[in-house]
Amino acid sequence: MEVKTSLLDNMIGVGDMVLIEPLSEDTFIENLKKRFDHNEIYTYIGSVVISMNPYKSLPIYTAEKVEEYRNRNFYELSPHVYALADEAYRSLREQDKDQCILITGESGAGKTEASKFVMSYVAAVCGKGQEVNKVKEQLLQSNPVLEAFGNAKTVRNDNSSRFGKYMDIEFDFKGDPLGGVISNYLLEKSRVVKQPRGERNFHIFYQLLSGASDDTLKKLKLDRDFSKYNYLSLDSATVNGLDDAASFRTVRNAMQIVGFMEDEVQSILELVAAVLKLGNIEFKPESRCNGYDENLKEMCELLGIEQSVLERAFSFRTVEAKMEKMSTTLNVAQAYYARDALAKNLYSRLFSWLVNRINESIKAQTKSRKKVMGVLDIYGFEIFEDNSFEQFIINYCNEKLQQIFIELTLREEQEEYVREGIEWTNIEYFNNAIICDLIENNKNGILAMLDEECLRPGTVTDETFLDKLNTVCAEHQHFESRQSKNSKFLTDHSLPHNCFRIQHYAGKVLYRVEGFVDKNNDLLYRDLSQAMYKANHSLIKILFPEGNPAKVNLKRPPTAGFQFKASVGTLMKNLLSKNPNYIRCIKPNDKKAAHIFTDSLVCHQVRYLGLMENVRVRRAGYAFRQAYEPCLERYKMLCKQTWPHWKGPARGGVEVLLTDLQVPAEEFAYGRSKIFIRNPRTLFFLEEKRRQ
Ligand code: ATP
Ligand code: MG
Repeated sequence: MEVKTSLLDNMIGVGDMVLIEPLSEDTFIENLKKRFDHNEIYTYIGSVVISMNPYKSLPIYTAEKVEEYRNRNFYELSPHVYALADEAYRSLREQDKDQCILITGESGAGKTEASKFVMSYVAAVCGKGQEVNKVKEQLLQSNPVLEAFGNAKTVRNDNSSRFGKYMDIEFDFKGDPLGGVISNYLLEKSRVVKQPRGERNFHIFYQLLSGASDDTLKKLKLDRDFSKYNYLSLDSATVNGLDDAASFRTVRNAMQIVGFMEDEVQSILELVAAVLKLGNIEFKPESRCNGYDENLKEMCELLGIEQSVLERAFSFRTVEAKMEKMSTTLNVAQAYYARDALAKNLYSRLFSWLVNRINESIKAQTKSRKKVMGVLDIYGFEIFEDNSFEQFIINYCNEKLQQIFIELTLREEQEEYVREGIEWTNIEYFNNAIICDLIENNKNGILAMLDEECLRPGTVTDETFLDKLNTVCAEHQHFESRQSKNSKFLTDHSLPHNCFRIQHYAGKVLYRVEGFVDKNNDLLYRDLSQAMYKANHSLIKILFPEGNPAKVNLKRPPTAGFQFKASVGTLMKNLLSKNPNYIRCIKPNDKKAAHIFTDSLVCHQVRYLGLMENVRVRRAGYAFRQAYEPCLERYKMLCKQTWPHWKGPARGGVEVLLTDLQVPAEEFAYGRSKIFIRNPRTLFFLEEKRRQ
């Protein structure tokens, strides 16, 4: 069987891990390395794409490349994220199957870049015409806007996503794009007021100060000098390779294309400026926030707030109980706390508003049935020296995605064989369901316990929460099997007193409980939301609806953890209803450097991503499968007995066809409804024949 396809010939290393001989972790990594060294950053495991971050730009995303991959079979050309995008788009258009693209990997592995390549590929191949082009442009330009407000430089990644993003791109029956809907997941808002050493605040602050005209800055009462602002860390304000001023122009332009009005942009920038001003407000014991604070004055001017109103909100806290109102004075520490809480809330609400505003612009203008391609790009798994509530939430989300991967690729694969009546030997793999359960179980999961603690009357602190965790999770574990969820809650003598440790699928993470209760509560003093609502500023007013005195609602808003769990639950349901396509991103080194391949680091990722199991499952079985009908339909032209009409069941037709073509028997298995093809070569052979 001679087949000329670049997946098998002229290939550096092996393009599909399924074809590696012999298969071991060493040969797997060696293959990745060999390919990486030759700038072959993509490798398949069957239909899964592994993507290695090259940390340099490669000439593989050109218009010519798009043409090359367009309408070609998945295994025909050398592995590329375009092949996956093409496959997904075609099965959406031709088979009417909703798709989702799941992109996973740790921080800095290349998820966001991959999601943009997928989007731009699809934009390039789908539909033409003025209307359609406008839709495409708007969809693509939503990226720079959201990145400016939602990404930041971290230790791991100079452009790290600090929010989760899921975007549904909608198409009509012809496959032309109609619009899109973006969902965002919990922005890491603590970054607004404080950043870990070596990290920055969200890009937009630096972009605005570097890129705006003198005139704009004057209107916003801002100074170009980053160091004037407490909320902008000083040690890493400029980042090599990031041109904040140029980015600002890109973002402004993108906002215009997406459809923001000039006055909206102005309002948004006023809010950004207000956050910077807030950070500079100082409180002193003797003369609490006073009228002489220039920053307070300027902030009030920017937002159209009466200064005395805000001053009061920073000085007193009103507690309403039953029919009574009680006012307590805030001490200096409480005033700073209130200030930071306001800054975080202002910014994160602005971000959610931006997402909604973008959705308003990009939403499809028709109610008719749509085909959907979802692209998921979330913050990757994170292990820092100091891990807090944010990392806990991020890592929980990553656990859930790993669950989907396991559920669908590994389990589904095995179950399909059983269903189809094909012989199968079970492959052991680590199922992280127990870790998800430890976190999200409604009764005694960590999030539930945190909520319980937050709602409990009496004195609640991070320590009382930790005590509770330790009692419930740690004490039980001695009596339970190693496979119980509590076995993933690790305790030992080396554990610092204010921490707990979880064995995540991707490694052990030590979480410091400080701030858990507060961040989960996510409460803003009522006096502050009321002060904001009184602002004579169109945007601010919308952002603090609960400040409307007419809407006195004493019910507590749901906690941050509760909301996140609910939105992740909805997301998972949505993803499970679509046909999944996976991109597994791997980081070659932790220096953000090109040409360095750190074996141990890659090995760790290969292990926890479950890639070896993935290959084994694929190899134990069959690389390709297709229902009998479409298979016969596609290849019946290759055989006299089946062409042009085969009378009888499709399965019989496929049997006749394959026998006639003399394909070796061990290459096939006949399932109940599908034909299973062991080796991709066989598929190429059939495809080649068709073309002759
Ligand atoms: P996070 O979880 O922190 O958001 P991420 O997985 O989204 O991380 P990216 O922002 O996509 O990571 O990638 C980090 C950086 O790596 C990019 O800014 C870019 O410099 C580089 N990079 C990633 N993928 C590629 C690629 N295919 N080609 C060139 N450079 C890349
Ligand atoms: Mg990202």
